[in-house]
Amino acid sequence: MEAVNMREMPPSRALTDFLYRKASHLRIPLSGTFELSPVCNFSCRMCYVRKTREEVRNSPRKIMTLEDWLRIAREAREEGMLYLLLTGGEPLLWPDFWTLYDALIDMGFLISINTNGSLIDEAAIAHFRKKPPQRINITLYGAGDGTYQNLCGIRGVFTKVDAAIRGLKEAGVTVKLNCSLTPENAADLDWIIDYAQARDVVVSVATYMFPPVRRDPERFGVNERFTPEESAAYLMRYLRRDRGEEAYQHYLKGILDGFVEPPGLDESCVDPVDGQIRCRAGKASFWITWDGWLTPCGMMPEPKVDLKTEPFAGAWKALTELAAGLRLSGVCDKCANKDICHPCAAIAYAETGSSSGIPTYMCRATREMCRVARETLGSEM
Ligand code: SF4
Ligand code: SF4
Repeated sequence: MEAVNMREMPPSRALTDFLYRKASHLRIPLSGTFELSPVCNFSCRMCYVRKTREEVRNSPRKIMTLEDWLRIAREAREEGMLYLLLTGGEPLLWPDFWTLYDALIDMGFLISINTNGSLIDEAAIAHFRKKPPQRINITLYGAGDGTYQNLCGIRGVFTKVDAAIRGLKEAGVTVKLNCSLTPENAADLDWIIDYAQARDVVVSVATYMFPPVRRDPERFGVNERFTPEESAAYLMRYLRRDRGEEAYQHYLKGILDGFVEPPGLDESCVDPVDGQIRCRAGKASFWITWDGWLTPCGMMPEPKVDLKTEPFAGAWKALTELAAGLRLSGVCDKCANKDICHPCAAIAYAETGSSSGIPTYMCRATREMCRVARETLGSEM
């Protein structure tokens, strides 16, 4: 594994990494995600969580209330939570969003928000200007209304998302773009990278789509997504365009040397490998679902602890013990490509139904990356 050179890191990143290392070691819940609602005004084909209002109403578990979230925020702050991501569905559709947001800002959390951007109007921008979050992550799905209609089933929103990105930037709010790339919007990839670069905004493109097993437990290993080989090809194309030729060549060399950073997953997915779970989930970070389950990460419906009956401190302790018991497949553990592939318990679970299964989708994608690296560098040597 590559050593981290602290002198080359921006001070804020070095501090964050230091805090996470400490927190992982001491099992402090430094970072949390509040999934406020699974309801969304988009209906993206590959979404892992989306539900309709009616499905939420008919669910045996009720959606968490403002009071529930405020209680949990207070309790989690006592246990060490500093970083907080608000997500959904579309979090701005949750009825008490602004009341909760203001209270959480006043409690001193460093807040990020995941949103599709379509509901960020002038009033929202003014609010964020006055009480800025640490960052707003906007998912940009494509180059115009046509792509949004095909992929997200919604008409006429591209202009609103574009205006939100511009308005937030002008208001001095930090914006990052996320893009979930699928066959429906693959043709827009170059445009998306150019759009981000023209606005001096970071864009992170994910070409791996988790099977939506939280939405439909029958869908292990299935999603509306690329073949593994296409997923690898588009990931490499994104890295080449986004990072430039020199960094791309360095990445290819990393593949041949057997280690590259895992691009495209969530930011919790980064701690060093220890043969158990390959990230901060259940060690220093957690996720709370809209109906009150505490889980290691949003891609993993299990293990889970009920926050409707347990206070946060006890639930977190129970979760760390359950997460410590997660084991990847012995095949992955011994695989020569594991530090290129970066399999994790959530991927294994979503692909196979077991966190110790072998996610063969990743095996194929990784083989393709190795093939491209060998061919490209071989032809240039
Ligand atoms: S379990 Fe996987 S998806 Fe979840 S935070 Fe860890 S590396 Fe990321
Ligand atoms: S998923 Fe496949 S390529 Fe990845 S570590 Fe496991 S066995 Fe290796």
